[in-house]
Amino acid sequence: MTFRELKLNDRLLEGLDAMGFEKATPIQEKAIPAIMDNKDVIACAQTGTGKTAAFILPVLNNLLNKKERHLNTLVIAPTRELAQQIDQQIEGFSYFTDASSIAIYGGGDGKTWDKQKKALLHGADIIIATPGRLIAQLISHDIDFSRLEHLILDEADRMLDMGFYDDIIRIIKQIPKQRQTLLFSATMPPKIKKLAQTILNDPIEITIAISKPAEKIDQKAYMVYDDHKLPMLRKILNDSQYKSIIIFASTKDKVNRIYQTLRRKFNDEVMSFHSDLDQPEREKIMRQFKNNDIRILVGTDILSRGIDVEGIDLVLNYDVPGDPEDYVHRIGRTARASSSGTAITFINDIDQRKFAGIERLIENVIPKLQTPNDIPDGPEYTPNNKTKHSHKNKSRNINKNKQGNYKRKGKPKNKRYPKKDSSK
Ligand code: AMP
Repeated sequence: MTFRELKLNDRLLEGLDAMGFEKATPIQEKAIPAIMDNKDVIACAQTGTGKTAAFILPVLNNLLNKKERHLNTLVIAPTRELAQQIDQQIEGFSYFTDASSIAIYGGGDGKTWDKQKKALLHGADIIIATPGRLIAQLISHDIDFSRLEHLILDEADRMLDMGFYDDIIRIIKQIPKQRQTLLFSATMPPKIKKLAQTILNDPIEITIAISKPAEKIDQKAYMVYDDHKLPMLRKILNDSQYKSIIIFASTKDKVNRIYQTLRRKFNDEVMSFHSDLDQPEREKIMRQFKNNDIRILVGTDILSRGIDVEGIDLVLNYDVPGDPEDYVHRIGRTARASSSGTAITFINDIDQRKFAGIERLIENVIPKLQTPNDIPDGPEYTPNNKTKHSHKNKSRNINKNKQGNYKRKGKPKNKRYPKKDSSK
């Protein structure tokens, strides 16, 4: 379906055209008409599906029909990176309109605080805020939400995981009851359903592939002991077909260790990304990564949600993430709307059960590859084995039948989105 068929305003169509968006993605096809029809919506969709445009385009469309401008829409997002990205997408869509938006998040100096305050007090049309900073601003100033029409919660599951439930409820108490509420979440655990019952009014439910990674991602895993992970990693990174790479590790310490080791070989091609960095540092690194000035980014899960960088060809999980959902979010950084990508996971002796949990969640068996000849064999993949896995168990029996079972399901119909053309 084209965006014209979705009856969007011509000025938005112009913006979409300039961004190279031709066809709506499935979530956009379903959500845009419902939102334009003024319904509350609860949508289960992961990043990479085009969910941001799905909630922003109808809101912008409504804004363009307004004569008076005031604080019209509040988007709440879990992280500053996501808030910024939503803001950037809004800028693109609204390029040919006079709609205004601002991202409000923590960090920054007094000037940033004042700019955020001004936008809140003098009515940017759309505010995209992280919960903590928004509450800080609400406590300090009297913000007029009386004409707010749309409330959007993006990555609601992540916000609850981060402990923002009370903050969200506190914010909602300050905005009009009479409003349209849109809740987007990558997963639908019971706590999200409970939140939905509290804040949504007779919502339309939309589900797009719950917790399934994009089908275009080529997923594989290596059975490898911890001691051999770094040599294995170096080997993979030597492969020049990978031009843009994210490596995830579970702790800051590990990120540092990997970064220091890789730095010796790859120099300025590699950078690390974790919660200790201040905001300008984070932004600088993300900019360099987007511009391909940095080839390899090593980070914790802080990188795994909402980072919208096109053309990442490899996501490497240095260890198996603790929560299966994090696996989906981590590997969702590759194969975004217009490209394909590879996701490689290292599985050691003790992470096997966790990995089996991931395979259950995504309903797919990921092939376990043998380490190359010059890297010692890894453990056998026996996730159901109750006895503790140990270093002694080094046979090379790598679940061949499971490899055989691995199915790629072919390219889904709507997944060939056009590439952005920045020259337009
Ligand atoms: P999201 O799921 O909102 O994080 O979007 C993922 C990526 O897909 C972003 O880079 C968007 O710019 C891009 N995108 C979203 N919708 C479309 C579309 N209809 N056509 C082409 N690209 C899209």
